[in-house]
Amino acid sequence: MDSIATHNCTIHFQNNCYPSINEHLNKRNFSKIFILVDENTHQHCLPYFLEKIETDVSIEIIEIESGELNKTIDTCVGVWNTLSELDADRKSLLINIGGGVITDLGGFVACTFKRGIAYINVPTTLLSMVDASVGGKTGVDLGHLKNQIGVISNPDLVLIDTYYLHTLPQNHMRSGLAEMLKHGLINDENYWNKFQDLSKLSLHNLDALIYESVIIKKNVVEKDPFENNLRKTLNFGHTLGHAIESYFLSSPDKTTLLHGEAIVIGMILATYISTELAGFPKQVAHHIKTLFIDYYGKVTIEKSEYAAIMQLLKYDKKNNHGNINFVLLEAIGKPRMDCLVDDDIIMDAFEFYAS
Ligand code: NAD
Repeated sequence: MDSIATHNCTIHFQNNCYPSINEHLNKRNFSKIFILVDENTHQHCLPYFLEKIETDVSIEIIEIESGELNKTIDTCVGVWNTLSELDADRKSLLINIGGGVITDLGGFVACTFKRGIAYINVPTTLLSMVDASVGGKTGVDLGHLKNQIGVISNPDLVLIDTYYLHTLPQNHMRSGLAEMLKHGLINDENYWNKFQDLSKLSLHNLDALIYESVIIKKNVVEKDPFENNLRKTLNFGHTLGHAIESYFLSSPDKTTLLHGEAIVIGMILATYISTELAGFPKQVAHHIKTLFIDYYGKVTIEKSEYAAIMQLLKYDKKNNHGNINFVLLEAIGKPRMDCLVDDDIIMDAFEFYAS
């Protein structure tokens, strides 16, 4: 698979990953290398990565606790302090090995430490391969509100090696798949059609699909790096999806929903809203709902909870001038941005999901 060069970052795949990083380490003369992991990627991914790395520069490992609940500014303070104590300077490199929590948080730590040091992302979940590590969005949550603090800035390299997926739990595989389904829905009907039998997907046929997803994301981000326009389409399903994710995160009696699981619900709701406001065909909306619920199951959201979830929409980063902006679909591959949606249509969308 050919490497993909973007404006100031190169994405390498499979066998190309390690010769490329070794060449980069050789060329750039970093003073120290720091590797950020959580306890799972420390155990499952770091040993393999270290075997492949050839450098004389000293390497320090920094481990943080896994999970979205730790994607906070407090964790960043801990990592900044550790970098300081271990004498990191402006010529240091941070390598983030992990899922979206590690690449988002590690990217933010790198972009802000001493006003910015170089970093590399080694995504180890499906979600971080096809989405979180591409496009330069970094950041952390603010309380239960997702991704409120952050900057957009690219890593030097992204290394996508699907070998790491062998140890990834199934529910996290499904969560990552949600973003690939989104790429099909917003961008490319041919790509979407490759996902019509989700039960047949396996690690063997995922490599080529991951590559296609990365190209879709890269093409969108390249045209609009700062989300003034086209990049907003990547938020399809995320307006309500993030609100649902935040609501579940903040409700002690609810099981936490994985990012992709919440986005799947958000996409079903946004598809329904699209039938009402953007002319999206109703039978296709029903098909999408059935396909998603068969594979992901249905999450119970009580009628009494709709208002609290809708209240969280006001924190969506795409809002401006107090308006909540939805991405809708006119057809598969034809998104429409900046759509305003009345509360009663959102309520109906929840009912459509529940029915
Ligand atoms: P995650 O980073 O929490 O990883 C999921 C779990 O898998 C964790 O427990 C982790 O320790 C474990 N894990 C990671 N790799 C493993 C491996 N190879 N083997 C075994 N276990 C492994 O979650 P995620 O789903 O990767 O990412 C979710 C985050 O990504 C969210 O915070 C979301 O906001 C963010 N995100 C960012 C962007 C972006 O553009 N920056 C896009 C989408 C999502």
